[in-house]
This record gives sequence, C-alpha cells and structure tokens, in this order.
Amino acid sequence: MPTALITGVTGQDGSYLAEHLLSLGYTVYGLVRGQANPKRPLIESMLPDVKLVEGDLLDQTSLINVVQQTQPDEVYNLGAISFVPLSWNQAELTAEITGLGVLRLLEAIRLVAGASPSRPQSERTIKFYQASSSEMFGKAREMPQTEQTPFYPRSPYGVAKVYGHHITVNYRESYGIFACSGILFNHESPRRGLEFVTRKISLGAARIKLGKQKELVMGNMDSKRDWGFAGDYVRAMHLMLQQPEPDDYVVSTGEAHSPWEFADLAFKVVGLNAKDHIRIDSQFIRPAEVDYLLGDPSKAREKLGWQPSVTFSELVQMMVESDLQQESKAS
Ligand code: GDP
Repeated sequence: MPTALITGVTGQDGSYLAEHLLSLGYTVYGLVRGQANPKRPLIESMLPDVKLVEGDLLDQTSLINVVQQTQPDEVYNLGAISFVPLSWNQAELTAEITGLGVLRLLEAIRLVAGASPSRPQSERTIKFYQASSSEMFGKAREMPQTEQTPFYPRSPYGVAKVYGHHITVNYRESYGIFACSGILFNHESPRRGLEFVTRKISLGAARIKLGKQKELVMGNMDSKRDWGFAGDYVRAMHLMLQQPEPDDYVVSTGEAHSPWEFADLAFKVVGLNAKDHIRIDSQFIRPAEVDYLLGDPSKAREKLGWQPSVTFSELVQMMVESDLQQESKAS
C-alpha cells in the first residue's frame, strides 16, 4: 500500500486529503511544526490513523529527516501561510514558508530519492504535489483563467505562491521529479478557517440567527471568487499524482460569485436578510484587491476525469447548517 506525507495536515485541505487517502488504503504521515502546536490534539482526535511527524518548512534538515524516515511514495505540500491579509503584515515570513518552503521540500525529495534527469520515469520514486493558488492570477490577464494565463499576483501571498509554482515546474524539468502544481481556486467547507470570508459569513449568519451576535462587519463585498467544496478538490490533488506524466492543472467550478451573493444565500438559510445585518468597514479593505477570479477547469475534467460534486448554493447551505448546529450546542 502506498505511503503519503502531507504538510499542512492540520489545515482544512490537510484533513480532507488525509481522510481521502486513508479511505484509499494509504499510510498517511502528517507534518506538524512547533512545540505544543495547539492544532495537534485536534488532528489527533479527528484523524487518529494519521501518523504525526515533526518538522518545519523553515528547517531544511528536518524535512530531509522526515522524508528519509517516512519513505513516502507521494508528498503533498499544503503547508503555508494561507491568509492573504496576514501576508502584508508578515511578508518575509510568508516568502519563507509559502515560497521557499516549497524549495526546501523539493530539495529533501531530490536528496532522498536521488532524482536525476536521466532516470527513467518508473524509477522516479517520490511524487510531489504543490498547492498552487488562483491568487497567482491576481489582477487577472484573461477571463476565465487557464493553465496558460500569465500570473499577476496582488499580495505577498500571491507572489510567494508564484515562486512555489515555478520552482515546482523547474524541479520537474531540471531533475525529472514527478512534480505537479495544482492551481486551485478558492475552496471552502465547514472546516474553513474563521478568518476567510465564506466561513466568517456562515458563522456570522448562524450566530445572528441565534441572537449571539448583533452584526457582521465586512470588507469589499463586490469581488468575485470561483468557490468550490474542499472535499471535492482534494480528490483532484490525488488524481494528478496518478497520471502517467506530471503536469499542472487548474481546479475550479467555472462559476464566480461575490461575497454579497454568498451572504444573501447564507442569511436566507436562516430566514434573514443579509443587508439588514452587514456593515462595511474599511479595516477589512486590503491594500490591493483581487477583483475577479474565474477558473476554466476543462483540462482537469478531460485529463483527470475530475468534476466538482457540490454546487455553490449547496456549499453555502452546508456551511451555514454546520455552524448553526455547532453554535446551538456551544454556550
Ligand atoms: P482570498 O481570495 O484567498 O483572499 O479569500 P478570502 O476568503 O480571504 O477573501 C475573499 C474575498 O472576500 C476578497 O475579495 C476579500 O476582500 C473579500 N472580503 C470582504 N470582506 C471580507 C472579510 O471580512 N474577510 C475576508 N477574509 N475577506 C473579505
């Protein structure tokens, strides 16, 4: 049975991917960092079958040791500083983790697997998946965005992800590593971090309905995002590494919606009107905005046979109902 190593296993995508790979019979290792990482007990109780190993995307030696120790067939790099506004406040750390962290992991794979361009495909032992992002398209040069669309990142996060994408492609071309870059558009779920717009709205709608919160204070509600369900998107990550050749793929739904549309549906689920409860405040407006992202998932559909299974309105409903249930239980 194959073995996988996941960085970012304590995050939304890490938990869905670990569940998916465990269901396929994989042995799954998850990288956790830091002393007394507060997310560790959560992942231990939620996914007891994931074997946790210690290491850090900032520490080259720790990554070499972990790859050596776990001998994975597949490495999924989901670890990153992933919240766009934070990347302006900690731009250098974002470059180190979200950007250079990819290089360190690729170096660990190269050193442990002994990758070289002359080795035949069948002997290239460790496959690599890089979590690239639609934020790389930023001020989008064309609509919809495909694997060929030029990048124009609009935040230190987007810039770091562009580096991660290019170094992944470069290590594939330089050393023959089976490395894929998945350009995933925004993907959400009840496990999404509370700082992201979808979860902030779903939780806010639930709490306002229950009388636990008075209003929801938001930033720019007119941007557009191509939002899908994270549980669908981790299937695409795995499929990329099962192809005969490594490649890059856009993963998206092909539909764009605004935070206002998300909020309208979310408040409708709890029988309220979004406009009555939302206040716009400049504290949530970003130094530079990504106005409109819309992905063209044709290649993923045709080559991977991948399709999303959850529609936009189903996603909103799933998130609000989950928050309503949790908030009803919590004091
Ligand atoms: P991103 O696409 O990775 O930046 O995902 P987010 O969920 O953080 O933001 C999506 C969009 O929602 C962006 O255009 C934000 O400017 C917009 N937005 C509006 N209000 C808020 C807010 O209060 N929090 C967040 N996170 N985003 C907001």
